[in-house]
Amino acid sequence: MRQTGAPPAGLATPLQYVKGVGPQRAKLLEKKGLATVEDALFFLPIRHEDRTRLTPLRAIQVGQVVTCTGTIAGISPPPPGRARVPLVLLLRDASGYGTATLFGRGWLTRVFQRGQKLVLHGKGSRFRDKITLQVQDWELVESDDDEPIHAGALVPVYSTTEGLHQRTLRSLMYQLVERYAADVGETLPEASRQRRGLAPITEALVGVHFPEGEAQLAAAHRRLAFEDFLLLQLGLAILRARTTRSQGIALNPSGALVKRLRASLPWSLTGAQERVWDEIRRDMAAPYPMHRLLQGDVGSGKTIVAALAVLTAVEAGYQAAVMAPTEILAEQHVMTFSRLLEPLGVPVTLLTSALKGRERTARRAAVAAGEIGCIVGTHALVQAAVEFRKLGLVVVDEQHRFGVAQRARLKAKGEHPDVLVMTATPIPRTLALTLYGDLDLSVLDELPPGRKPIRTEARGEGKRQQIYKFLRDQAAEGRQIYVVYPLIEESEVIDLKAATDMARHLQADVFPDLVVGLLHGRLPFEAKDEIMQRFKAGEIHVLVSTTVIEVGIDVPNASVMLIEHAERFGLSQLHQLRGRVGRGPWKSYCILLTSGKLGEDAERRVQAMVETNDGFKIADVDLQLRGPGEFFGTRQSGLPEFRVADLLRDGALLEEARRDALAIVAADPELRAPEHRGLRQALLARWRGKLALASVG
Ligand code: ADP
Ligand code: MG
Repeated sequence: MRQTGAPPAGLATPLQYVKGVGPQRAKLLEKKGLATVEDALFFLPIRHEDRTRLTPLRAIQVGQVVTCTGTIAGISPPPPGRARVPLVLLLRDASGYGTATLFGRGWLTRVFQRGQKLVLHGKGSRFRDKITLQVQDWELVESDDDEPIHAGALVPVYSTTEGLHQRTLRSLMYQLVERYAADVGETLPEASRQRRGLAPITEALVGVHFPEGEAQLAAAHRRLAFEDFLLLQLGLAILRARTTRSQGIALNPSGALVKRLRASLPWSLTGAQERVWDEIRRDMAAPYPMHRLLQGDVGSGKTIVAALAVLTAVEAGYQAAVMAPTEILAEQHVMTFSRLLEPLGVPVTLLTSALKGRERTARRAAVAAGEIGCIVGTHALVQAAVEFRKLGLVVVDEQHRFGVAQRARLKAKGEHPDVLVMTATPIPRTLALTLYGDLDLSVLDELPPGRKPIRTEARGEGKRQQIYKFLRDQAAEGRQIYVVYPLIEESEVIDLKAATDMARHLQADVFPDLVVGLLHGRLPFEAKDEIMQRFKAGEIHVLVSTTVIEVGIDVPNASVMLIEHAERFGLSQLHQLRGRVGRGPWKSYCILLTSGKLGEDAERRVQAMVETNDGFKIADVDLQLRGPGEFFGTRQSGLPEFRVADLLRDGALLEEARRDALAIVAADPELRAPEHRGLRQALLARWRGKLALASVG
C-alpha cells in the first residue's frame, strides 16, 4: 500500500475520464461537488438500506420508515397545475396492494410504466384517509438485479440529482471503490490505529460504501470520523504547542492591586472563582503566553475574574486590552471596568470605531504612550492600527464570534500577550474541544450564593393585562422590570419605533405612576450610560429596551424580564436575556410573551426555556436545533471541514482523537518522524489556507 507522496494520477483522475462517465455525467457529478476519483471515494452514502428486510405493502404503518418493493399496477398523475396533489402509484406485492405517493414530482409520470418493479423507501402516512407510503426515494429494479450491489443485504443510497439515477451512481461508486480504494494512502500511524482498533483506510472505504453487515459499516464509519477529528485536533495541538514553547511575558507582581480590589468587594469569591483565578494567575506568572478559555453560565461572575487579571497585568507594568464583540457591549464593559478599576487609580478608556476626530487621536496617543492601563474596545482592536506601549494581556469577551484564526492573528502581533477568552454561553464539551481546542479550559461551574432559580413562563397575547398587573405588583414591592423587544424588521428605524411606541404606551396608559425608560442602540454613549445609571439607582422602574441589554447589564434589583415576541429570539439570546434577572436575593421571573401559532422550532425553544435554567442544557438543545455549523459558524471559526464526522453523533470519538493528537504532538511536535509522514501530509492538505500551519512543512 502507498504510504505517502502526492496523490497518484489515479486518485486525481477527473471523473469524466472514468469508464462509463463521460462529459454529460461528469457535469451532473460536479453538481454534487465531485470532480475527481478521490472526491467520489469520500462521497459517502446518506444511508444504507437492508434490502433483505422489506416491509410488505399491507403491513405499512403510519409514522414508520420502511423500505418496500412492488410492481406498478396503476398510475394516477396529479392534475396539471395542482402542485399540491401528489402522484399516486398503485403497487402490488406478495401481500396484496398498496399505494405510494410522491409529492412535487409530477414529471415522474413520464418515467413510470405499469409493470415496472420498484424499490421504494419512505414513511407510512395517511392520505385521503388511507395508509400510503410517502416516498422519500425510489429506484427501478431491473432484470439484472441479482447483481448483489443493488440487492445485497446493505445497499448504499446516495444523494442524487435530477438526471443522475440512484442505480447509475451506485454502479459507478462500486466500480470506483473496487478499482481505487486501495490507492488511498494510509494516514493514521500504525500505533494509533492498533490502540483504537481502527480499520485500515482501504478497508474503511470499502466498508463505508459496500459493507457486508452493520458491524463493518459502523467500524468503517468510526475509522473515517476518527481521522477527521484527529486531523482537526492535531492542528489545534500544534498551534497550542507553539504557544507554550514561544517566549511570553511573565506577569508576576506582588498582587497589591488585586488585594485592594478584593478587599473592596461586598462579597467574597465563590469556590469556582477562586479556582479559576488561581489557574489564570499561574498562567500569567509563567514565562509563556497564557491561552485560556474561561467558560461560565450567565451570572457566574466572569467579570470580576477578568478584572483581577487586568489588575495583575497593570501592576506588572503592562497594559490590558478588553475586547467585546459589539460596540454596545464594549460600552457596557467600559462602565463596569471603570467602576472597578478607577478607584484603584487605574485609568480605563474606550476605543471604538464610533470615536472620531481629535478625541480619538488623543485617546490613541495616550494608549501608545502607556498612560492608560485598561483599554476597552471591539474586536476591531485586533485589526486596527491601535498601538500599545506594552500590551501584556488581552481579554476577549466573545459570543462565538472570535475564531481560531483571529486568535492566531493576535499572537502574530509579536508581543505574545497573555490571552483570556470568556464565553457567556456555555457550550457543550464536544464543541469546546473543537472550537477552543487550542486553549486551556477553566470552567465557572458555580453561581454566587443566594441566587434563586428564575421562574420562566410562556404566555400568549391574551394574558397581557394579567401580566401588566403582575409587573405592577412587583414594582410595588420595590423591584424593577425589563421589557425587551426583538429585531422584528430589517430596519432598525422600524424596530426602534416599536420599542418607542411601547415605552410611550406603558408610561401613559399602563404605569402612569411609575417611571418608564427607553434604551436602544442608536442613543449616544452618554445617553445610554445615563439611562443605565438611573436604572441602576432605581430611578427608572420599567426599562423598555431593544436587545442592547442582552449581555453584560447587571442590576440586582431587577426581578422581571418580559420578552416580547419571544418566538423570534434565538435560544442563547433568550438565555442571556433571562440572565439579566435573578442577580439579587429576590424571586425573579422571565415571561416569554408569544403571539400567533408557534413554529416547531420556536415551540421547542420556548419549551426549553420554561423547563430549565441550566445553560449547558440550553446550549445542547440549541445545538440540536441549529446544527453545529450554524451553532458556531464554521466559516468564521477558521477550522477545516469534516469529511465524515458529525459532532452530534460522534462526540465521544472526538475525545479519543484529542488524546491521541496531544500524545503525538508531545512526542513529535512538527510531525517529522517517518511514521507520521502520511499524517503530516494529510494535515497540511486539510488545513491548507486556514492557518499558518504551513510552516509545519
Ligand atoms: P457574568 O459571568 O454573566 O459576566 P457577572 O460578572 O456580570 O456575570 O456577575 C453577575 C453578578 O454577580 C454581578 O452582580 C456580580 O457583581 C455578582 N457577583 C460576582 N461574583 C460574586 C460572588 N462571588 N458573590 C456574590 N456576587 C457575585
Ligand atoms: Mg458578563
